[in-house]
Amino acid sequence: MPRPILATIHVPALSHNLEIVARRLARDVGASRPSIWAVIKARAYGHGIDQALEGFARADGLAMLDLDEAVRCRERGWSGPLLLLEGFFEPADIEVLDHYRISTAIHCPEQLEMLEAGAVRHALDAFVKIDTGMHRLGFQPDAYRAAYQRALDLQSEGVLGTVGKMTHFARADDDAATTAAQLRVFAEATTGLSGPVSVCNSAATLTEGLAAGVPGDQWVRPGICLYGGSPFEDRSAQSMDLRPAMTLSSRLIGTHTVPAGAGVGYGHRYVARHPTRVGVVACGYADGYPRHAPTGTPITVDGVRTRVLGRVSMDMLVADLDPVPQARVGSPVVLWGEGGPSVDEVARPCGTIGYELLCAVAPRVPRRIQGAQAAPIADEGS
Ligand SMILES: *Cc1c(COP(=O)(O)O)cnc(C)c1O
Repeated sequence: MPRPILATIHVPALSHNLEIVARRLARDVGASRPSIWAVIKARAYGHGIDQALEGFARADGLAMLDLDEAVRCRERGWSGPLLLLEGFFEPADIEVLDHYRISTAIHCPEQLEMLEAGAVRHALDAFVKIDTGMHRLGFQPDAYRAAYQRALDLQSEGVLGTVGKMTHFARADDDAATTAAQLRVFAEATTGLSGPVSVCNSAATLTEGLAAGVPGDQWVRPGICLYGGSPFEDRSAQSMDLRPAMTLSSRLIGTHTVPAGAGVGYGHRYVARHPTRVGVVACGYADGYPRHAPTGTPITVDGVRTRVLGRVSMDMLVADLDPVPQARVGSPVVLWGEGGPSVDEVARPCGTIGYELLCAVAPRVPRRIQGAQAAPIADEGS
């Protein structure tokens, strides 16, 4: 029998979360709700491209970083728009974009040069990206109009098709003033430039009134919320009716009582104050569970919420069984997801975010796909 650890991917939860986002947007923005790029970078935040294709079948488009992920979507039959959020990296990529009809971000002059030097059979759709204050990718505001004009020239030569405008927010999750300032920079730099517009990540998409204030033909780009994670520190996913799309589960493989004064695990980072019954869980940092999870990180054993004790080791961690006297070897454990703490609740004491934990689940963890038609154990081909 394999180790009992398992990542269950709930395909219906992906569809549900997409539906929640679409409904919110329809309520906020009205009849002309923005189109939705479901962001599926990083193997769909660890959920698998194939699962995303099934769960997000009703998205208006799919956005990712990796050309291979985009190609896989086409080969699996996705016929809608695909957008590379960082664009392409070298001239040879342009042929692949052309062949598979993949849209691209254009964020730097080097990409424009590659397009100017290249040839395509079908015009590529593109979003020209402006850096409005994230200070990561994008043309600077004072260089934006010239870059956009070069894109329009490429359009008239038949290299580009639709040309749109995009930017990315640095603090949509925690600071409305910064977002408002970025929007002002965006509005000023793009006044009079036609074409679709894309500015909202999950946090902005879920902020009431934000997408509604963006004029024109709009595409939003939610990621984490579609997987049932919250982009906000102070709003749980559950409070927004989002469902976890991944459950990381395992079982107890040992139990014993640690005497008072004895330490648990490497470094004896937890010392029992009184005799404490503990359970050893088959999950460690080599499975992607964070090694820096401190004592007290929430975990559910046999349906009861308890806590991690001491250091997480490579293949195991230890849970406090005081609140779970009935627990024994074989008892089910939920690290995060359905029936356990949310991934955000686990991430917080670890000093990170749910995004990182979802992306970090290791290849050695078997995936079970809970689909519309329940499928057996799938290997991690995507
Ligand atoms: C990752 C990413 C998103 C999605 O971000 P979430 O916070 O997961 O919604 C949107 N746009 C760009 C450019 C991204 O890189």
